[in-house]
Amino acid sequence: MKEQIKAIENYIPEEPLAQVKKRLGLKKLIRLSANENPFGTSSKVKEAILNWNFAESNRYPDGDASQLRQVIAAKLKVPSNHLVFGVGLDEIIMLLSHVFLENGDEIILTKPTFSEYALHAQIEGAKVVEVPCNAKSGGHDFAGMLTKITSKTKLIWLCNPNNPTGVYERPSVIENFIAHVPKDILVIIDEAYIHYVTDVDSPSFLPLLSKYPNTILMRTFSKVYGLANYRVGYAVMSAKLAAYMQSVRLPYNLSALSQIAALAALKDQKFVKKSVNKTQKERKAWETFFESQGIKYFHSQANFIFFKYPGANKLADFLLKNGYQIRRGFSDEWLRLTIGTTADGGKLRTLFLTQIKK
Ligand SMILES: *Cc1c(COP(=O)(O)O)cnc(C)c1O
Repeated sequence: MKEQIKAIENYIPEEPLAQVKKRLGLKKLIRLSANENPFGTSSKVKEAILNWNFAESNRYPDGDASQLRQVIAAKLKVPSNHLVFGVGLDEIIMLLSHVFLENGDEIILTKPTFSEYALHAQIEGAKVVEVPCNAKSGGHDFAGMLTKITSKTKLIWLCNPNNPTGVYERPSVIENFIAHVPKDILVIIDEAYIHYVTDVDSPSFLPLLSKYPNTILMRTFSKVYGLANYRVGYAVMSAKLAAYMQSVRLPYNLSALSQIAALAALKDQKFVKKSVNKTQKERKAWETFFESQGIKYFHSQANFIFFKYPGANKLADFLLKNGYQIRRGFSDEWLRLTIGTTADGGKLRTLFLTQIKK
């Protein structure tokens, strides 16, 4: 077997909601630890799923996700052969690492960021070079990343907005960085949360993508579209890079139901807009709360917020016992909270205050 696999720490996925409830004997549990859409899923998706022809069950799905491909290509104004679909971005991250990394290669990423990038680099035997985020703003340290580039560097991961910090970087800032990166290094921009950016009108790097053939953009249906259970993500890249990815990916990775759900979700942009508006308001309420309590946090443009609290694990335990699960495990001082409904936010802040006053 691959020697490096023995050293890998398992990614611990979210424990199923029902299981946590049972384990803790809770009547009600609100999960604000996985950045899922707290407003559910568009009713248009439900309709599409219920109208699916069950008689297709014995048939393989469309391995090319043709219809979804056409619709997204038209929406993003990119050629359809520039798209690669995956079973969530999880599969795309695995594929990118599998296709472009060899033993001894290096990747560069921000610390902290989404843990899957490092996991798959390790599986391929590549070295993970971490550059701490800016301590004050939480943003990527672009200058610091440039100094870490060596002849072995193959991939640079940029999560934007970054998970878990929530910090967003403008396309012009990313472009300036890319201009300094050698052309044979791939820069991968993970826009899993790009819909939640409200500070600027045109937040995506997409319009600049074709100018830099060494850039790759990633999107998912798991977050604002409320389809985490259906596992649909995709990447946009040059036709040449996409062809390499296509030859390695599993031929029937997306089920018909996943493709149908994504198509229906895309059609309901009203649902997306509503989710973003409600999140924006509630995100502001959290920032105001942290501000008033003198709690350090990073300005978030995602559907979660990252804050510093001494005794973070104790607080997380207390909230969990009271029916709210938030994300821990970054360090013993930082927690990440998914922005939920206004009602839950109010209750959560009240609970939080009882701990601060102690
Ligand atoms: C949630 C998340 C993903 C993975 O999403 P799936 O499409 O559900 O696999 C990818 N990147 C980031 C930054 C995420 O937070």
